[in-house]
Amino acid sequence: MILDRDSVQKPIRIRLRRPDNWHNHFRQKGDPRFAPTVAYIARQFARANAMGNIDPPILTATQMIGYWNDIREVAKAAGFLDFKPLMVVMASPNTTPAMLTAAFSAGAYGVKIMPANATTNSAHGIIDYKDPKFLDVLRVTRDQRRTALFHAELPSRPRAVRERAFIPILDQIRKKIPDLKICVEHISDAQMVEWVINQGDLVCATVTPHHMSVTSDMADQDPHLQCMPYPKSLQDVFAVRTAAMSHPRFFYGSDNASHLRPAKERTDASPASGVFTAPTELPVLVELFEAHGHLDQLEEFLCERGAHWHGVPLNQGEIELVRNPWDVPDVIDLCNGHEIVPYNTIPH
Ligand SMILES: [Zn+2]
Repeated sequence: MILDRDSVQKPIRIRLRRPDNWHNHFRQKGDPRFAPTVAYIARQFARANAMGNIDPPILTATQMIGYWNDIREVAKAAGFLDFKPLMVVMASPNTTPAMLTAAFSAGAYGVKIMPANATTNSAHGIIDYKDPKFLDVLRVTRDQRRTALFHAELPSRPRAVRERAFIPILDQIRKKIPDLKICVEHISDAQMVEWVINQGDLVCATVTPHHMSVTSDMADQDPHLQCMPYPKSLQDVFAVRTAAMSHPRFFYGSDNASHLRPAKERTDASPASGVFTAPTELPVLVELFEAHGHLDQLEEFLCERGAHWHGVPLNQGEIELVRNPWDVPDVIDLCNGHEIVPYNTIPH
């Protein structure tokens, strides 16, 4: 990474390897959020995850290839010819080893495990983590040297403790299948941070911009900051941020998840969960790492640790970020009046 600094030693230009985003929701063909989201993400990242909890969910190799084609098509139409979606399949109670083997052969780098009904489009998710069929899915993942990506929450518990309540389940899985590669997605809880650090090289975590900044008090005041796992205490934010800015097994996955204003600002029910980070991800990360004196860690966090951990080549080529004043709009019209509120830097 190269930093050009001005006379007061503030970086005015940063050049770094093209980055990766290891957790992201593009939405799907026919949805007004889909093409704008692909364009925002492909402009910033060489590769980005395409989480498969769309409707119907991505459960098979065939569905996954279809989704890959849809994303590539809109990325190309937006001028991002070499953008690479990073594909996974979702686990369901009916996933078989054969389905999973086919998906891995077709290029999936992992299988996503979501608790049933924990978040958007997760009705097909997992309920029984001791089910022999589920354990077979994990064994195939281990045998094929792919990754089990966990939304690590127990939805039956109060949201402040849902993530830490999942630690005993992960412990049981580690005991039964110790050589399984596990990624704890969108980590949010200081106890889980400690757990991941203590597990050794086969366990990693992805980190979102908002879980490095947003507390539960802030989210309570603003539906656009509400997501799952729900933001937690300042101590939790501090633990997540510290790990992101220092530890080789914590890397970037924004969990960008768009919801239009009516779904976020509704008063008759809880707001939809998810933060729309896509338009602002790299500027927000630069500001955050700079504010905490860790710009030196940004390239590792964004561009290297994830590739190293997953065993894929680093991206070739560089991007250049230039310091320019930019007022992030309060609201963006994605198309035809479909309004959405983008994530912005949280002051520190
Ligand atoms: Zn997600």
